[in-house]
This record gives sequence, C-alpha cells and structure tokens, in this order.
Amino acid sequence: MKTVLVGVGQAGGKIATALSEFDAQMGFNSVIDAVAINTAKTDLSSLPIETVLIGQSQVSGHGVGGDNELGAEVMQSDIQEVMGTLSSKIHANAESIVVIAGLGGGSGSGGAPVLVHELKKVYDVPIYALGVLPGKDEGTMYAVNAGRSLKTLAREADSLMLLDNDAWKASGESVSEGYNAINKNIARRFGLLFAAGEATEGVGESVVDTSEVINTLRSGGISALGYASSPAAEDPAENINVVMSAARNALLTGSSVPGATDADSALLVIAGEPKRISRKGVEKARRWLEDETGSMQVRGGDFPVKSDRIAALILLGGIERSNRVNQFIERARQAAKEQKEEDKKKVDQKSLFQNDELENLF
Ligand code: GDP
Repeated sequence: MKTVLVGVGQAGGKIATALSEFDAQMGFNSVIDAVAINTAKTDLSSLPIETVLIGQSQVSGHGVGGDNELGAEVMQSDIQEVMGTLSSKIHANAESIVVIAGLGGGSGSGGAPVLVHELKKVYDVPIYALGVLPGKDEGTMYAVNAGRSLKTLAREADSLMLLDNDAWKASGESVSEGYNAINKNIARRFGLLFAAGEATEGVGESVVDTSEVINTLRSGGISALGYASSPAAEDPAENINVVMSAARNALLTGSSVPGATDADSALLVIAGEPKRISRKGVEKARRWLEDETGSMQVRGGDFPVKSDRIAALILLGGIERSNRVNQFIERARQAAKEQKEEDKKKVDQKSLFQNDELENLF
C-alpha cells in the first residue's frame, strides 16, 4: 500500500519518522513520503523529515500543553498551510494517507481529527488514523484527551488503527523509558503491513494484495494489528504448527490492543520464504481465526520475504465490541466525570469570595 504518513504532535512525528526509516531500510518503498506537524518547535527540530510548525500566532512555537481543544483549534486555523504542504507530497500513486498521533496529548490528540476531516474532503483514497492510547500509568488528563480524540477519529477516519502504549513495550520498562523501543516495534509491524501488498519477489496466487488490507479496514471504526514470529524448518511439512503458533501468538499475545479478539473482519498475512510456508498450516490458522474473531470475513495471503522465520500479521477490522476497547472508553468516561467535578470545585471556590463584604487584608 503506497502511503503518505503525516505525524501530528510529538509522538506522531517520531512514529512517522520511525516508519519511514524502517521502510527505507527494508527497501519496501511503500512509504511515499512522511511529514511532521506540531505546535512545539523543539519537538520538530530533531526530526529528519519535512516539518510544519502550526499555531505560531497562538502559542509562539511553545506547544499547547496538553490542551487538545486548543490543538484542534490551531490545526483548524492553519489548515490551509498544512494542506498546501501535503498536496505537494500526495501524488497520484498514493493508495492511502495515514495520520499518526498520540491520543493522550494536545497537538496530536486535537489536531489529528481535524486534519483527517479535511483530508477526507479533498482525497479519494482511504484516510486512516494510527492512534496511540496512553499507558495505564498515565494520568486522568491523558485518559480524557484520548477518549475524546478516539471517539472523533473513529467517526472521521476510514479506520482508526489503535495501539495501546502498554502493548509493545519491553517488560519492566516504564512507558517513557520505552518510547524508542515501542516506536521501533510500531515501525516494524505497521511497516510490514503497509508493505504487505507491495511484494515483488516470488509473486504467486497466494500473495497478499493491497486491496485485501483496504477491504479488511472497510468496515470502518477501530482496528488492531497483531504480530508474532517463530523459527521455521526448511521443509513446509514441518511448519504446520509453526504457522499456527505464529498466528495464535499474533492474536493472543502480540496485539496492538491486547485482549481485543471480537472483530467484523480479519486479514491473516503469513510472511516468510514461500518454499517454507505450509499451506495446510495457513488453512488451519485461517479457520482458527474465524472462530476466535467470530467473523465470516477472514482474508489471507502471503508476504514473501527472505528469512529463516515465519511471521504472522493479523489485522482486525471493527473491534469496537471488544472488551479492551470498552474498558478504555469506560475509564475515559470516568476520568472525564472526575475532571468536570474538579473544574466545578474550582469554580465554587472562586465564587465563595465573589461580591463579598469580606475585604482582603491587602
Ligand atoms: P502532543 O505533542 O501534544 O501531541 O503530545 P504527545 O505526542 O507527547 O502525546 C502524549 C501521548 O503520547 C502520551 O500518552 C504519551 O504516552 C504518548 N507518547 C509521547 N511520545 C511518544 C512516543 O515517542 N511513542 C509512543 N508510542 N508514545 C508516545
């Protein structure tokens, strides 16, 4: 899938960079270009991709400090400049545009939904969002921001590909220590997905096509990506269980949204050397995936790569019914309620001394 990446905010810019570097390193050429947009000048300065600084008249390059309403406002007021820069990157060969953001912050959380909305008006290709959910140890503000951004992105984007920041970190690391490691994992996994339909080697009937990715995401709403790999034998007959266990681990332990298995549609991509891939194993894994997701729309295909391992990528479309997504929305709702009560308390404290006969001492 030939894609233009647009990172909004700090996390968005870093992840867009990591994805475009992975794509170049692997020689996939599925990333056409990558652009980073932010309200904070310093966050943009270290990025090697093209950048656009927005909101200079409102926040003078200092960022929006976690205020996602301001993030949305600033994106709206500078939208002409942003769309102008993007139009020079989005060529006729683009098959999708992916807007990437951390949903818990300000610039990306507020700016990404506004940008997706504008892009949908102008371009015919699918506009996807790649949104990062805050980890469990991040505070109330992050949960509220992410809840509101997620709700709007799921409505605006052709699909919101979701990643829980707790999902792909190495164990023992706090979220902030592990950003680089997480970003590398995001780059490798989503990078493989974007490249999956671009295979030029060993093209055969079973090779996955970009249209399979697009069709899996067509149900809209929220989607997730799972990934796992296992060492493979030379003889495909010995790899039935290798394929099965890669698929099982991709869904059950390697998902970007852990615990999300109910889905409207699914795509199983098996990456590996064509001569090692067991057809029996692929069939078995597909049937298993149908049972696990409760979906009748399970697509599949191979991604030929030179490797002594076999990897499974599982893309799930329409995971809104999943427990994990519902749990997060519930937490965000609760956090929004707490935040409103806090704000009300502050107003009540202020009004305690309004129009008062009691005069301050000085
Ligand atoms: P913004 O610049 O105002 O859009 O804010 P951020 O991009 O820093 O968004 C904050 C959210 O993104 C928080 O939930 C962070 O945990 C997360 N985040 C920040 N930087 C990174 C990063 O490099 N990688 C990942 N995966 N998440 C990040």
